[in-house]
Amino acid sequence: MDRRKFLGLVGAAGVAATLGTEAHAAGNVHFDGYPDSMGVLFDATECIGCRKCEEACNKVNELPAPEKPFDDMNVLETERRTTDKALTVVNKYQPEGSSRPVFRKIQCMHCKEPACASACFVKAFKKTPEGAVVYDASLCVGCRYCMIACPFNVPAYEYDEPLTPRVMKCTMCHPRILEGKLPGCVEACPKQALTFGKREDLIKLARNRIEAHPGRYIDHIYGETEMGGTNWLTISGSPFNEIGMREDLGVTSAPEMTSGALALVPMVTGLWPVLLTGVYAMNKRRDKIAEEEKAEAVSNALRRAADQAESKLRSELEKADVAHKRKIEVKVKKAVEDALASTAKDKKDEEEA
Ligand code: SF4
Ligand code: SF4
Repeated sequence: MDRRKFLGLVGAAGVAATLGTEAHAAGNVHFDGYPDSMGVLFDATECIGCRKCEEACNKVNELPAPEKPFDDMNVLETERRTTDKALTVVNKYQPEGSSRPVFRKIQCMHCKEPACASACFVKAFKKTPEGAVVYDASLCVGCRYCMIACPFNVPAYEYDEPLTPRVMKCTMCHPRILEGKLPGCVEACPKQALTFGKREDLIKLARNRIEAHPGRYIDHIYGETEMGGTNWLTISGSPFNEIGMREDLGVTSAPEMTSGALALVPMVTGLWPVLLTGVYAMNKRRDKIAEEEKAEAVSNALRRAADQAESKLRSELEKADVAHKRKIEVKVKKAVEDALASTAKDKKDEEEA
């Protein structure tokens, strides 16, 4: 495709996408969340840092075995984030004034109004009525907007997957929830650190625990309002910023925060995804051409090797043939010489006799 044609297509598609974006922006108003959605309550005062949740998550999601085994507690000495091969990790913190370390489990927070979903222009991320934020790899174009948008730094990209890299994150074990099962990590937790249930009920449970043990907990349910609310909730005995949680996020959801800006700059927001799509398509095309060129080069090399082998074989055969013929000639010559010598000897014997 030449440059003029490409820009023409980008322009035409930009208008279409702009109209689409206006409609999408109109949809970017506050959404109260699905009323019966499920969630998980994490109680940091109960977590003992055993990493059983990490192990269960690895198993149910069929992820590769980690470099260090799950019973290696030295791993907790370094603060980690989720990766494409570890959808949840437990970190150890030593909050000021606390006599013991505090452990905190990290995974997708399953925002009520997810920033990842609102940033994704092909709608690869979706908030389900069950509460989980799920991802459809077949729609993903690999722009990684979701990774930039997520305020919790959760989605991770399969950079070392050469053919079909995906964005990886916790799914709240959505397929298991649909089957009536508990999320893998919740099922595996040997303490009361993880509780699965209706988000509304979890908020009541968290509040009851805080009220029943005011000295044990900070009076706040993290996720009740942060970023418009999340379906994964946390209660803790230590200030949240001392166990690695952001306290600067505010209570406005990501789509609500960006809806005004989107309405003001529809052309920019309309064109940007289209340009990215164009760049992505060009990269794909370039990769395809590179693949085709590689395949052609391999087939040419094979053809050349086969030709060379054939001509070498032919010349060896010819050489062998010549050598064979020479051998015969030498033998014939020798036979003739022997015969001549014998005849000469017979003749001499006859003359002498
Ligand atoms: S925590 Fe990040 S990845 Fe998870 S739903 Fe919220 S924005 Fe999306
Ligand atoms: S809910 Fe499932 S995917 Fe999410 S951290 Fe737990 S085990 Fe992993």
